[in-house]
Amino acid sequence: MQRKMKSLNLSIRNLFFSTKCSVCGKIIEDDRYICYDCLKLLRRKGELKNRENYYYLYYYEEDIRKVIADYKLKNRKELVVEISSLLKKPLKYLLDEKKIDIVIPVPISKKRREERGFNQVEEILERLKIKYQRIERVKDTKHMYLLSSKESRESNIENAFGKIKLNIDGKNILLVDDIVTTGSTIREIIKELKKMGKPKEIYVFSIAMAKSFGK
Ligand SMILES: [Zn+2]
Repeated sequence: MQRKMKSLNLSIRNLFFSTKCSVCGKIIEDDRYICYDCLKLLRRKGELKNRENYYYLYYYEEDIRKVIADYKLKNRKELVVEISSLLKKPLKYLLDEKKIDIVIPVPISKKRREERGFNQVEEILERLKIKYQRIERVKDTKHMYLLSSKESRESNIENAFGKIKLNIDGKNILLVDDIVTTGSTIREIIKELKKMGKPKEIYVFSIAMAKSFGK
C-alpha cells in the first residue's frame, strides 16, 4: 500500500514537475525540454551549411521539426534556452565571418504575434544578446518600416523611435528566420530592402531549411 502511494505520489509529481523531451518523448526529471542524448545529437548534426547566401544548421526533418513546432505552437517557449544554445556558436561565427552590420529577424504577422505572444526568432536573438532591427511589413502599402522599440522590454533592439527608414547603404545584412521552405518570404523582404537602399550584401540564416529548397 505504502509502495503504491509512493509511486502514485511520484507520478503526480511528474505530472507537474517533469517534462517530455520534445524530440524523443522521454520523461525528463528537471526543467529542460530536450533530453541530454537528443541535445547531444542535435549539436553534432548542427554544423553550419550553406547554399549561396543561405546559411542553416539543419534540414527540416523529424527531430528539429518537432523542436521548432513545440517551441512555436505548443506553448514551449522555454525551448528558447536549448535552441539558443544550439545556435550560439555557428550564428556568432557567421556574424563575425561575414562582418554583419545589421541583423533583421523575419517579421511575423500581427495576428501570429498576438496568438503566440512572441516572435520566435527575436526571443532567440535576445537570449544570445545579439542586437537586431525589427522591421514590419505593412500589408496594404507593401512597404517596410523600422519599428519603434517602445513596444519591446528588451534594450538590445537598436533604438529607433517611430517609423523611420532603415539606413542599409553599404551594410552587410543578415536576415534570420526559423525555417526556410521555399524562400519566397525571404526573397520578398530582400526585394523590399533593396528598395530602401544599397546594401553591400544580404545573407540569410535559418535554423532549418527544407531539403527541397532551390530545387
Ligand atoms: Zn530526447
